[in-house]
Amino acid sequence: MFSRILIANRGEIAVRIIKTARRLGIKTVAVYSQADRGALHVALADEAVFLGAAPATESYLDIGKVVAAALASGAEAIHPGYGFLSENPDFVDAVGKAGLTFIGPAAASIRTMGLKDAAKRLMEEAGVPVVPGYHGDNQDAAFLKLEAGKIGYPVLIKASAGGGGKGMRRVDTDDDFDAALQSCRREAKSAFGDDRVLIEKYISSPRHIEVQVFGDGRGNVVHLFERDCSLQRRHQKVIEEAPAPGMTDAVRTAMTEAAVAAARAVAYKGAGTVEFIADGTGPLRPDGFWFMEMNTRLQVEHPVTEMVTGFDLVEWQLRVAAGEPLPVRQDEIRLLGHAAEARLYAEDPANGFLPQAGRIDHLEFGSGEGIRVDAGVRAGDQVSPYYDPMIAKVIGHGKSRDEAIDRLKNALDGTHITGLTSNRDFLRALCRDEIFRQGRMDTGLIDRGMDGLIARPDAPEEAILIAALAASGLDLSGPHCGFRLWGEASHRVTLHAGEEVIERRIVPGGGRVRLLDGGEEVLLEEIVFDGRTFSARLVRANGSDRVLARLVVDVHGGEQRISVLLDGETYAFERLDPLEGEDAAHHHSGEILAPMTGIVRLVDVGAGVAVKAGDRLVVMEAMKMEYTLRSPRDGFVDAVFCTEGGQAEGGAVLVRITEERLDG
Ligand code: ADP
Ligand code: ADP
Ligand code: MG
Repeated sequence: MFSRILIANRGEIAVRIIKTARRLGIKTVAVYSQADRGALHVALADEAVFLGAAPATESYLDIGKVVAAALASGAEAIHPGYGFLSENPDFVDAVGKAGLTFIGPAAASIRTMGLKDAAKRLMEEAGVPVVPGYHGDNQDAAFLKLEAGKIGYPVLIKASAGGGGKGMRRVDTDDDFDAALQSCRREAKSAFGDDRVLIEKYISSPRHIEVQVFGDGRGNVVHLFERDCSLQRRHQKVIEEAPAPGMTDAVRTAMTEAAVAAARAVAYKGAGTVEFIADGTGPLRPDGFWFMEMNTRLQVEHPVTEMVTGFDLVEWQLRVAAGEPLPVRQDEIRLLGHAAEARLYAEDPANGFLPQAGRIDHLEFGSGEGIRVDAGVRAGDQVSPYYDPMIAKVIGHGKSRDEAIDRLKNALDGTHITGLTSNRDFLRALCRDEIFRQGRMDTGLIDRGMDGLIARPDAPEEAILIAALAASGLDLSGPHCGFRLWGEASHRVTLHAGEEVIERRIVPGGGRVRLLDGGEEVLLEEIVFDGRTFSARLVRANGSDRVLARLVVDVHGGEQRISVLLDGETYAFERLDPLEGEDAAHHHSGEILAPMTGIVRLVDVGAGVAVKAGDRLVVMEAMKMEYTLRSPRDGFVDAVFCTEGGQAEGGAVLVRITEERLDG
């Protein structure tokens, strides 16, 4: 076994690998960019080497720098994690040339599987079912359109070199083909440096089911059952589970045999995943699934497999890379219950899933039996606009599917993130979705149910009262809550919750607080507040009372923003300056900001033009994804601060919209 390894990655996966290495007595070397000087993975590793500036091309993607760091630190092997260089065969070659071991498959396996078209041709030869389509070399636009027509709409255009759900366009009619091909090529070119595409039949009601495989590179390949990753948005996984709902012995046998055959066809070594698309219009069938691609690395969602098999896949990766045989035989791998994982991201689902960069002020995860959290950040850390904005993966494991999803939901209920917008509430809504709970989902479930999934309940009075109290700036921390100091002085607090303006009057005194709102007067007694967790007895005018327990209050952003966690739901408020009053509530900034550092691809408007709410203003590309920024309201473009092809820093103003035309 190795005594020291370098981890060529960051965030959650780097932390994950460090944990297993430490357990096995292996020393770890982290690498980091300028943006990650204070990052968790750097703090946890035994040693850390600085790579370069924040952009990944100058740090985590720089093969020369990563290999040099490994040599300088005396590491014997490099674990690539996922993303970044993990599926780059040139990196594998460079690692080998430096006399180091790559913890993963051979460069040749990655090369073969890295191009979706070549992989599909090989799979056809190996007898693995493949989605009907064109995966040839002719890239002429008119020819491809003809092929699309032959396959029959709807079709999917995919970047041959694609990955991570990027570079993929569904096309429903002949008329839409040219525009889709163009945009797919643009994305593929900039993301993968390769604009070749393939066309395949779009499978309706598709389910994404994949098989975890493991090879020792000497001809032994085992599988560790399947995962269902059908809950996706824009072809990116959101919630994954194992086993797949509705899986039968016959389908599992057919699918795992196809997966093992695929791995054998490339003499596979290490952890890999063979992805299939399955016909979800009815029950799963042994002849109703097709090969999509093989991911030649550890997958983001590997924890669900670890939870249902009890094995540590990172440990297996290290052992196999060190030349040991697979630790178990196929018949020793058993399925233990059910597990489901949710990807917690700094992103705004209600706003096209725009990534959110910024500081995480507070971070707390729900805990309990059967819950695992793999996090890459701590409270106080910055989510950088330079990398994937994942905060953590939350996993629930239980005896049954219901128990696993309930535990996942409980863990999310107890998760509180403040400082930036996350997809936590969206994930909770998904956990409650009826179709998902019945296991009848397909990859379109999220898109179809988007309105319901992003709907936010109105804040209950209890949450408003606590927010008003927190916003009042009154000292609630002492045993007497400092109220005597204030006597009977009354405080008016104006809060803003979404569009709504809420006013409360607070009268502290005698160890309790009176709150007055539009008519009703309530009392809060027995207040205990430790700075974050708040509890009190709430007495209503009619004499009824209720104990409010475990309310978590976070005041941040210079005491302007307050977040209350009550019964699993978070409610966000903003304090309004009483002098600004109502006006402030109606003031929407007309400034369109860059969500992340990235490239401006298109600018649709010029100064002076009229726009309607929802009109496309700018298309940005960041983290290999295109983001469309739209006008928040009707108005006029006052100024444009970006140009096509230019770089924009996260948070920079791109366009300013005003209500009235400003003549200049
Ligand atoms: P999976 O099939 O396991 O979901 P993806 O193909 O989506 O994996 O990519 C793996 C993961 O790698 C992504 O979810 C993302 O977190 C990470 N990743 C991909 N590209 C990058 C990148 N350029 N920088 C940082 N992380 C990346
Ligand atoms: P990536 O390399 O980006 O992960 P995949 O080829 O694995 O690309 O496809 C990603 C997702 O796109 C799948 O999980 C599925 O939701 C959808 N998809 C891919 N191929 C098809 C298809 N032929 N029909 C319908 N959906 C598909
Ligand atoms: Mg895939």
